[in-house]
Amino acid sequence: MQPLLTPLLGLSERQLKAVATGLGLKPFVGKQIADWLYKKGVTEIAQMTNLSKAAREALAAAYTVGRSEPLDVQRSKLDGTAKYLFPTREGHFVESVMIPDGERATLCVSSQVGCKMGCAFCMTGRQGYSASLTAGDIINQVASLPERDRLTNIVFMGQGEPLDNFDAVLAATEVLTAPWGYGWSPRRITISTVGLRRGLMRLLEETPCHVAVSLHDPIPAERAEMMPAERALSITETVDMLRAYGAWNRRRPVTAAGVGEELSHQRRLSFEYILFDGLNDSRRHADALLSLLRGMDCRVNLIRFHTIPDTPFRGATQRQLTAFRDYLTSHGLFTTIRASRGEDIMAACGLLSTKRQEEERKQL
Ligand code: SF4
Repeated sequence: MQPLLTPLLGLSERQLKAVATGLGLKPFVGKQIADWLYKKGVTEIAQMTNLSKAAREALAAAYTVGRSEPLDVQRSKLDGTAKYLFPTREGHFVESVMIPDGERATLCVSSQVGCKMGCAFCMTGRQGYSASLTAGDIINQVASLPERDRLTNIVFMGQGEPLDNFDAVLAATEVLTAPWGYGWSPRRITISTVGLRRGLMRLLEETPCHVAVSLHDPIPAERAEMMPAERALSITETVDMLRAYGAWNRRRPVTAAGVGEELSHQRRLSFEYILFDGLNDSRRHADALLSLLRGMDCRVNLIRFHTIPDTPFRGATQRQLTAFRDYLTSHGLFTTIRASRGEDIMAACGLLSTKRQEEERKQL
């Protein structure tokens, strides 16, 4: 029987040094391996040509690079958005979405197969939870993406709740940002969450990445109806924790030049808000939102809802989105309407699902 090989992708330089010394090699070999994995993007251990033949053989006997190419891609005819299907180490499937936008190209990565959070408006939530990804599975979505060299931003807004798999997400962000890894600025990475008590403080304290909170309704009892996670940590408590953390309380500029400098380096806090027709789009909701976020240096992203089967939810019209945005903006809350991308390939917000692939897998 073929020995089960351990993937190297997703390991930190420290872990790779431990791999090297575990094989009787010098620690600096770990540094060389990191260089081959993350800077040179090799797919085979045999390509690590500055390692001795003996070192490569010892490594290949127990390890593999761990890259897996996408199994499928769907490309939007509307806007060039591409949805990729990646296999995971354990044989599951996840989707990642590459969103081109002029000079920018954002990759929306998944952190879990399915999701436990059960948000009623989300296809992933309705899929249920199958597994959490390893750091290697997360990094593979970047490393094996055909457009990886074009990427400017990464958002953890694909399948899964990142804080429910935070160790792996943290390990992946270390690989993305470390000088021995991809060397990205953490300000190019956004981690999105519904707000989980255990993970939220870790998210704030253990990474400098931008934070996005899936808010969707400022009134706790109503939010709980569509987002069961509200019952474990309410949106008011979530915002209190963010406020107490303090990095985004509104500060008065000292000079105009000083502000520009400060804002450009600031960690960004945003709140995602899907506007539903007749559900969370009233003046009462807008006022509750203003009151909830008063004094915080943050932005609200309004998102158009994409209808999913067998739900009572209806998306707000462009007119409702514009009116809601204008009301918030006129009351001092910076609000944008997020452009909808990849709608024709089910790649837009809330539409990711690998349910079919997961069911086919179970039948094998
Ligand atoms: Fe999970 Fe996010 Fe979907 Fe909620 S919206 S079910 S947290 S993937």
